[in-house]
Amino acid sequence: MPYEYQCQQCKARSPERHDRRTDAELEQEEHRASEHGGLAPAAGDGVRQVHDAARGDGCLPSGSFLFVLFLIVALVSNCWGR
Ligand SMILES: [Zn+2]
Repeated sequence: MPYEYQCQQCKARSPERHDRRTDAELEQEEHRASEHGGLAPAAGDGVRQVHDAARGDGCLPSGSFLFVLFLIVALVSNCWGR
C-alpha cells in the first residue's frame, strides 16, 4: 500500500502517493523546512498508509454485496413462484 504525508496544521496532504515510506518521510522533512522553519507543526503531522484505489480493492465489498443481493432476489422469486 502507498504512503501519504499529511500536515494537520496546514490541512495539507501529499499531492501524490509514495510507494516507499522513506519518500513520504522526505516530503515531511521538506514540508517542515519550508512551512514550519524545520519544526514539527503544533497540530501534528505524519506519514500514513493509504489504500491504493487504482488497484481495485474497493470493488470487492460491492461485488460480494451484489452477489448477496442476487441470492436474496433468487430466493424471493423462488418463493413467489410456488
Ligand atoms: Zn504544515
